[in-house]
Amino acid sequence: NYNFSAGPGVLPTPVLTKIKNEFIKNEFTHMSIIEISHRSTQFEEIINSAEERLRDLMNISDDYGVAFIQGGGSTQFEMLPLNFANNKNRIAVLDSGNFASKAAQAAVNIGKQATILDSSKMDHYHHLPMLSTDFNADEYDYLHLTTNNTIEGATYHQSILPKTAGRLTADMSSNILAEPYDVNDFDAIFAGAQKNLGPAGVTVAIVKKDWLKEQSIENVGSMLRYQNYLDKHSMYNTPPVFSIYALNLVLEWVQEQGGVDSMYAQNIEKSSKLYDYLDNSTFYHALVDESARSLTNVVFTTADLERDQAIAKDATKEGLFNLSGHRSVGGFRASLYNAQPIEAVDALITFLKKAENNYK
Ligand code: PLP
Repeated sequence: NYNFSAGPGVLPTPVLTKIKNEFIKNEFTHMSIIEISHRSTQFEEIINSAEERLRDLMNISDDYGVAFIQGGGSTQFEMLPLNFANNKNRIAVLDSGNFASKAAQAAVNIGKQATILDSSKMDHYHHLPMLSTDFNADEYDYLHLTTNNTIEGATYHQSILPKTAGRLTADMSSNILAEPYDVNDFDAIFAGAQKNLGPAGVTVAIVKKDWLKEQSIENVGSMLRYQNYLDKHSMYNTPPVFSIYALNLVLEWVQEQGGVDSMYAQNIEKSSKLYDYLDNSTFYHALVDESARSLTNVVFTTADLERDQAIAKDATKEGLFNLSGHRSVGGFRASLYNAQPIEAVDALITFLKKAENNYK
């Protein structure tokens, strides 16, 4: 059985086994992992370790603070402008998909202005919007982009990241640790854990300390200030102990696999195998521009949405789950996060060939 869900995504089997074992009450402490205090030394070690591992895996320098926050990516859509759009009160957004558009709307909802510089919506987000040469970064507090568009399947890989003279923030929710990014190119990064880092409940934020120091923020509650998370070591209030514990195990697993470079090599192998198959097929079509294709969310269709649905339903009978595209776009979406083995891609291709014979 393979789970192709876009989020929560598949977790590494050895991590799930460890979690299962530690759910049982420890014979010395008489507590399971979900019963320990966040003020205990046991948890302190866990959260320190999670931060250290993330810093190691992403090469995060001391110029950046790392915070573990609840509320998911959607809360970050509000926290970013609350903390960082205080000078011009205006952000710039490249509308590369549903979540970029939501980030722009969230900024507007909290009273900031958001300018969509370019959008690929007319093309169903099959290519990436880019910065025009006359982009004037001085007019905005920062530029917001979504590195990987989970629903539509287009990615700003490091090599095609827009270059701005101003501040850059990125939503890396669905491809953090799946491919290398130079953290120094960004002023703030966030990622909900539930796709590539662990279970839902914790969101990682990596913010430039100097930039935070420059802000004079009024009327922003304590729970929405990054500085409070950094000052209190993400324990201003009770943190999501279980989610951070599981995140730490996933980060350990990524380190054991050889880090981001190794994940990247495997993700290229997995996604290329699937894209090659789709490109050579006349029945299935991968829709995204080749240079922008996602390694983690492969989006395709037979160009008949009802047929796609029927095939995705058949797939579940063969143990291939969650292959339907997002409800807003239909078609298929195969999510190939770090923990997805290449055998899942092989099984999917075998199934797709069979489905082609049945439905053609
Ligand atoms: N950003 C991206 C790229 C996502 O894929 C998602 C969720 O799928 C979100 C933001 C929203 O995250 P959350 O559901 O954690 O609020």
